[in-house]
Amino acid sequence: MNYHSIAIDGPAGAGKSTVAKNLAKKLNYIYIDTGAMYRATTYKAISLGIDLTNPYAFGFLDQTRFIFRSGELYMDGVNMTMLNRQKEVADNVSLVSSHVPVRNKLVELQQAIAEKNNVVMDGRDIGTVVLKNADLKIFMTASVQVRAKRRYEELQALGSKQTLKELEEDIQRRDDYDSSRDYNPLKQAEDAIPIDTSDISIEEVTDLLYDKFMVKIKGDY
Ligand code: C5P
Repeated sequence: MNYHSIAIDGPAGAGKSTVAKNLAKKLNYIYIDTGAMYRATTYKAISLGIDLTNPYAFGFLDQTRFIFRSGELYMDGVNMTMLNRQKEVADNVSLVSSHVPVRNKLVELQQAIAEKNNVVMDGRDIGTVVLKNADLKIFMTASVQVRAKRRYEELQALGSKQTLKELEEDIQRRDDYDSSRDYNPLKQAEDAIPIDTSDISIEEVTDLLYDKFMVKIKGDY
């Protein structure tokens, strides 16, 4: 059977995860939040007390189980939604995700899921590396201010105490780090459709992408 996939890339807080989640629900596809996998890896590395600067210290990934249920990541059976939002995780995730062995392992797992399921996947390198043959590739952006405000509201709902200013700085720092790393940096795929979400609602973006996807795969239904 031929499975379908949608790749959504872009910087932190562009609205990728909400759009991807909504789109997956509408299509009855599986939503894969690859950022959650990099965050959970960071969380586990911190818990194990390993040297986060050493790219070869992440062998534990071979014995780590990642499962997505209703759009939420479970690592070794534990729901990671709240744990992944810890500040220490956000502070170190770009460093951890710059390591080649970490990326290779997580990309392999992401590709294995997409081989057996219809997926909507979001991240930084989905259109360029993970799902080069995705049916639809989107590159979502928005101004730093809009993105920080969205993250702020999202985190407030989860009970976080981080300030808007802290989040703006965190987003700017991760953008710089993620775009400038040597291996699989955040980059728009040549065949991706760019969408600036600063002035349109997440619902409008979801509907727009749904329509684009339907036109694209019409022949298959
Ligand atoms: O999407 P989210 O903000 O949760 O991603 C957290 C971090 O994980 C990013 O800042 C980036 O460093 C890393 N990441 C990545 N490649 C992906 C997804 C996330 O390097 N495909």
